[in-house]
Amino acid sequence: MFTDSPWLDFEKTSWPGLQTELHCEVAIVGGGISGVATLYYLLTTTEKNVVLLEKNRVASGATGHNAGLAVVHIEKPALELEQTLGKEATQAFYNDLGEAWDDLHAIHEEIGLQDNLLSFPSVANGFTSLDQFIATMKDFLIRSEYLQIKWRYLVAEDLKETIPAEFAQLMEFVPQETILSILYTNDTSYIAAAQPLLPFKGKRMNSAKFCYWVLDYLQQKYPHRLFVYEQTDISKIDLYLDHVVLQHSKGTVTSQEVILCTNGYKNFTIWDSINEKSFTKLHENITPRIGYLAAFPGELDESYAVGLLNQQGPYKDVPFWYFSHAPHPNNNPDHACVIGGPEFDLEQWEESKGVESFYLVRQFLKSTFKDAPDTLPFFWSGWMGYSSDGMRWVGPDSEYPHLWYNLACNGIGIVPAIAGAKKIASEMKK
Ligand SMILES: Cc1cc2nc3c(=O)[nH]c(=O)nc-3n(C[C@H](O)[C@H](O)[C@H](O)COP(=O)(O)OP(=O)(O)OC[C@H]3O[C@@H](n4cnc5c(N)ncnc54)[C@H](O)[C@@H]3O)c2cc1C
Repeated sequence: MFTDSPWLDFEKTSWPGLQTELHCEVAIVGGGISGVATLYYLLTTTEKNVVLLEKNRVASGATGHNAGLAVVHIEKPALELEQTLGKEATQAFYNDLGEAWDDLHAIHEEIGLQDNLLSFPSVANGFTSLDQFIATMKDFLIRSEYLQIKWRYLVAEDLKETIPAEFAQLMEFVPQETILSILYTNDTSYIAAAQPLLPFKGKRMNSAKFCYWVLDYLQQKYPHRLFVYEQTDISKIDLYLDHVVLQHSKGTVTSQEVILCTNGYKNFTIWDSINEKSFTKLHENITPRIGYLAAFPGELDESYAVGLLNQQGPYKDVPFWYFSHAPHPNNNPDHACVIGGPEFDLEQWEESKGVESFYLVRQFLKSTFKDAPDTLPFFWSGWMGYSSDGMRWVGPDSEYPHLWYNLACNGIGIVPAIAGAKKIASEMKK
């Protein structure tokens, strides 16, 4: 039932394990897209020498186990973001994401990685509940102003009379079949859809492959300033006034700065050697979550992505399902379709959740798509990190200037990882 992630199925460079003591200017912990992108910007925009330390293999975390949707989007509702940051900073925040989207394309071009960013000619979100649809519409209306994307709001025409006039004027009332066809579903419980007017900033991307290609490129270009170690587990980080010391099983790494790109992993301790006390902010505020995904074959000539909000019956605990159908970057039709939805906090998680999720995904596919498969050749899971306020941690710690973060994906982390990496390199340059 459980398989490895199909995203990791390509030729990879191996990096050695660290066997000795080491001194460097910057140490990055975590070899996912956040760590690799941070490394990229530090090498390309500063003169620093940088060490990347990864406890398993590069991209063995969420980066090699996600749904592969690179999007200019975050899960936190736009109104909450506005209330946290204020309007000006919210605009700057979305601008940074938009810039990271362009940068992601530019880096692909620079490293010569082709066919790794695939467009979706058709994108939509589907709803089974009018209340949810209206709540989402309110959020999208705020987001649209910042992102300059317009959405169409489509509702089944027989529901027209039930919709308050203030919202009805923003909606299009269409036969329900139109909604079902936009969502590629035959499930008649969907009564509304939100569809962005293209071009939409969302593409299918193999983020694991991207990481390996970036590292190969950097190794060629900066062989004297780049050091990558796999199978190097950092167990403890000691914070001093002007440097940090990282412990691994074969010795220590002494560095001026450390950047944690560890997403939701908390398998290390941090010790404040200045005040002789343990530093627990990260462990207290980052919650790991596990998400399950499946992939199966699909037609190669059609690409679309749908998000489906369906909390009816058996799906009541899965607020959001995301499905994409695209030719795989390696043109492998065996995993053209990717679906995710079931997700659990580490505290609620037990092994049986995996089997339950497998059957739930299969049932969801059967009740949603007419050509749903009987078997799922790929079924895997990945870990994410959620912060207590839904915001990514980017930059130096407020108390310890040599401790930096680019972590907490909060569900959507590909594009935000690039934005965070660029920001950190620009702050370190000062
Ligand atoms: C099921 C699922 C679906 C997702 N779908 C999407 C999506 O469609 N779109 C999107 O944008 N995002 C998605 N994400 C999130 C996205 O995958 C992540 O945001 C992104 O990959 C995170 O990259 P990262 O480098 O921050 O973390 P990771 O890729 O998790 O990397 C962290 C790395 O740190 C290493 N590490 C941890 N502790 C130590 C230590 N002590 N010493 C050394 N190394 C250490 C880990 O081994 C790991 O490799 C999804 C995630 C999951 C799990």
